[in-house]
Amino acid sequence: MSVLIFIDQAEGHVKKASLEALSYGAKVAEQLGTTAEGVVLGTVTEDLAALGKYGVKKIHHVSNDTLNHFDAQVFTAVIAQAVTAANATVVIFSNNVDGKAIAPRLAARLKAGLVSGAVALPDTSNGFVVKKNVFSGKAFANIALSSPIKIISLNANSYKIVAGEGTAEVAPLNATVEASRVKVTAVNKVTGEVPLSEAEIVVSGGRGLKGPENWGMIEELAHLLGAATACSRPVADVHWRPHHEHVGQTGLAIAPNLYIAIGISGAIQHLAGVNRSKVIVVINKDPEAPFFKAADYGIVGDAFEVVPKIIEAVKKVKG
Ligand code: FAD
Repeated sequence: MSVLIFIDQAEGHVKKASLEALSYGAKVAEQLGTTAEGVVLGTVTEDLAALGKYGVKKIHHVSNDTLNHFDAQVFTAVIAQAVTAANATVVIFSNNVDGKAIAPRLAARLKAGLVSGAVALPDTSNGFVVKKNVFSGKAFANIALSSPIKIISLNANSYKIVAGEGTAEVAPLNATVEASRVKVTAVNKVTGEVPLSEAEIVVSGGRGLKGPENWGMIEELAHLLGAATACSRPVADVHWRPHHEHVGQTGLAIAPNLYIAIGISGAIQHLAGVNRSKVIVVINKDPEAPFFKAADYGIVGDAFEVVPKIIEAVKKVKG
């Protein structure tokens, strides 16, 4: 028996979300009195054994060139083999784009119960009950899983990364890798210094910024803070910003430590993607803007006056 954690990587580097999943999975294994194991697919440049410090005892590594490009179908088939190799009864994913694509497929294949978007450790005192957000973060649901194999995908920033001591045994897994039916013709790298889904700080702009030519100050502030940039949906719809920056109900759901919303009204569909942020700062010229109700700090003012002042202040602090 084991708890198996899918270790998501990009260009050979393990994603931060996977470190949260590893720490979470190690704790679940401790709760169940079993061990945590990991599975990683494709070429990895990082020292996998070092991931043992997050509590994982063994890492199954399937190294195959086909796995260097994400294909949900191929990945699912390989992870199913890792589940057998690890004799896993619980499988953990990050609730990111890859996890969202694989977890339901794996659940169907293994006839396993799935809780997507878990926000806390399972309650194992009486069965196996997992808490998740529902209604765009407005409520919680506790879902009891009773299938022999249970699958959880963990929301970002829901569990703290816990690093201790130890190394993991890295075991090459000789899995059958089916040919991908997806042909990758080009890879367009997302611009920006920090990937939005992993960013600790996000500077986000809305229609209040009037046009794409005014995003210079958003990018400058983001650069100074080591932040990622985001936007509201209408901004992406009119192509002021690329769609991968759009956050909200129909875009990316993020949970950074700090979300700075500039010229965004705070519609419920926008809040659905950002209301798990630890601290929200809103800059809006309308004191009645709904976003202020969800804000920890609010600045009522014109973004074109306020943001340059913040940039100057940050520059002064940074020297
Ligand atoms: P606006 O509503 O136009 O607000 C602009 C804000 O900027 C105003 O509050 C204004 O006071 C302020 N402002 C204007 N000038 C300045 C200035 N100079 N300085 C400071 N502030 C200024 N939206 C999303 O964002 N994400 C989603 O995923 C999403 N999904 C949706 C799904 C559905 C089914 C539907 C129906 C809608 C969805 N929407 C989504 C759209 C959503 O309802 C809002 O229309 C949208 O979020 C508004 O974007 P905004 O705040 O940028 O623009």
